[in-house]
Amino acid sequence: MKHNFGAGPCILPQEVFKQAAQAVLDFNDGLSILEISHRTTEFEAVVAEAEKLVKELLNVPAGYSVLFLQGGASLQFAMVPMNLLGEGQTASYLDTGVWASKAIKEAKMLGNVNVIASSKESNYTYIPKEYAVPSDSAYLHFTSNNTIYGTEYFEFPETAVPLVCDMSSDIMSRVFDVSKFGLIYAGAQKNIGPAGLTIVIVKDELLGKTGNKIPSMLDYKQHIANGSMYNTPPVFSIYVALLNLRWLRSKGGVAEIEKENIAKAAALYAEIDRNPLFKGTCAVEDRSRMNITFVMENPELEKPFLKLAEEHGIVGIKGHRSVGGFRASMYNALSITSVHALIEVMQIFAEKNK
Ligand code: PLP
Repeated sequence: MKHNFGAGPCILPQEVFKQAAQAVLDFNDGLSILEISHRTTEFEAVVAEAEKLVKELLNVPAGYSVLFLQGGASLQFAMVPMNLLGEGQTASYLDTGVWASKAIKEAKMLGNVNVIASSKESNYTYIPKEYAVPSDSAYLHFTSNNTIYGTEYFEFPETAVPLVCDMSSDIMSRVFDVSKFGLIYAGAQKNIGPAGLTIVIVKDELLGKTGNKIPSMLDYKQHIANGSMYNTPPVFSIYVALLNLRWLRSKGGVAEIEKENIAKAAALYAEIDRNPLFKGTCAVEDRSRMNITFVMENPELEKPFLKLAEEHGIVGIKGHRSVGGFRASMYNALSITSVHALIEVMQIFAEKNK
């Protein structure tokens, strides 16, 4: 058995992969999910149920639309300012990592951007807490979980301007109040479904106010008007996301999975803090539950540790090149058994290297 701590794309439960494989062979009356028309009532039912489940699992209030789009979270870096940042307005951004700074770079091409806080000077090891949001900002953009660096917001910014959030790597992992947000987007490929699908949850009243000319494929209003089927949707990714959302509901929903995620993260951080060979890389209060970054006190031991971990079926823990060391990504589908397997290897290694 492999314990997959990879950062993605698409870490889903085995049972979801099995159901998805079956649907490729026979989704309906001998036809594959890949070949049926997306205009059939069968596929329309898939989209409708997926939308209903996103709304149910996240408790999305009335007045918000849920969209299934393409282009990844990276396209949202541009779509957000195109749709929400009018000429002469300024948008505020918090810079907490590579993805946040990519969002800033794209927005700067389209309008005025004010980066009101950044933790770049410390290689993004913490979430900045001291900043003021100008009250005339078109919106405040932030990244709720910084996949590469291993930090996460546990208190969202308090502001009267619309909050826009890239939740790609922690959506569906914890309970939060959607009504506090103007727009949420997430590349599906962590806790929702396969790459190729992007989820957007947007407060309808914010749209159509800028006077910007927006090409149809980049216009949220067009996608809303067409029920996420302005063009051919990513049918397979949407279907697999539906299967995974059903799995999440069967587990008791987001509140239940959050308890598991808290327990998994607490167990691994406890070992990192206890074991003399390892140390965490981020400010303790901002430590992510989804992506746990850590290094070794003696970097020369990193390679042999990685080798031992691989021998125990642990894959995907090599750190991102901009942080080094290790990153254990622990999305919803990763079981506590896998976390215990990693902890055991850390203990065996420490025993051998006393
Ligand atoms: N934002 C965050 C927080 C991410 O973790 C990622 C990818 O891992 C992205 C954005 C980029 O997403 P995509 O590859 O879907 O464009």
